[in-house]
Amino acid sequence: MGVDGSDRWQGEGQLRHHRQEDIEAAARALRAGGLVLLPTETVYGLGADAADPTAVAAIFAAKGRPRFNPLIAHVADLETAARIAVLDARALALAEAFWPGPLTLVAPVRDAAAVCDLARAGLDTVAVRVPGHPLSRAVLAAFGGAVVAPSANRSGRPSPTTFQDAFDETGDKAAVALDGGPCAVGLESTVVAVLDGPPRLLRPGAVTRAQLEAVVGPLAEAAGDAKRSPGRLALHYAPDAPVRINAAAPAAGEAFLAFGPWPDGEGVFNLSPSGDLTEAAANLFSFLRAADRIRPTAIAVAPIPDEGLGEAINDRLRRAAGFVG
Ligand code: AMP
Ligand code: MG
Repeated sequence: MGVDGSDRWQGEGQLRHHRQEDIEAAARALRAGGLVLLPTETVYGLGADAADPTAVAAIFAAKGRPRFNPLIAHVADLETAARIAVLDARALALAEAFWPGPLTLVAPVRDAAAVCDLARAGLDTVAVRVPGHPLSRAVLAAFGGAVVAPSANRSGRPSPTTFQDAFDETGDKAAVALDGGPCAVGLESTVVAVLDGPPRLLRPGAVTRAQLEAVVGPLAEAAGDAKRSPGRLALHYAPDAPVRINAAAPAAGEAFLAFGPWPDGEGVFNLSPSGDLTEAAANLFSFLRAADRIRPTAIAVAPIPDEGLGEAINDRLRRAAGFVG
């Protein structure tokens, strides 16, 4: 239990109303790459296996016109979190004080396969949380791994805090939808980065600054995602090589992210040979990193249709190319 009694995050007895079958059905759906509508104490989430890039891409598709922001990996307990992220003494102190509960810790990633590149937006850090809602914890325990679960609303709409609202938003995209009653907190989790230097408050939420500072001392201010300005935290992986978008073909020395039929070759990374946008989204961040690793003069990227997930892919690519801040 948290220092301030994290019981209060949990709502009342939702677990009672759920049969073990529902919990196992949700875990099975996650293992099969499906989406699950999942109650947490903050808001309803649309969850997927964090290790499965295609399932994670399906979350972004279900939300419609999304941006590829890094997602929070939800796990059943501190031990699982510590296998995924490098939690130092300060992170452990915060976890012990506020988990299970509405606190997300951003820390260096330890097991990059457990939370795929797309779920981390290509970063070397990972956001982890043990939610307080007993139903989501039961599902996470049955599943065993990490589940990314952004708010279950469609893009640009408010976060759902009741089952009906969540179901109306994205219920049709979920293989299993669990009703855990109204969310006890109804506000997104507090996000704290525990990396180099003092912990930084990235997003205010239900756990207050004063509560955090009582455990780890003064927090540093944080904002922005300017990867190259010291002390700032990047919200997206930015390749070292320049990115050239809408390229018909690579120039000499360039890596090439192809889309659709394209001959294999050195420096060619095909986001989706069949032209499937979900597959391309699932590959995007890993392939940007792989292309960067061969130290090309630039990363040329084939035109991506600006529809469905293509919009988010193009948004990300325009940012990588420096057209958007
Ligand atoms: P949600 O939409 O509730 O899943 O929130 C995700 C929040 O966590 C967003 O504010 C993200 O920017 C933040 N977040 C997740 N992963 C990271 C990360 N690796 N570094 C920084 N912020 C992160
Ligand atoms: Mg949201």
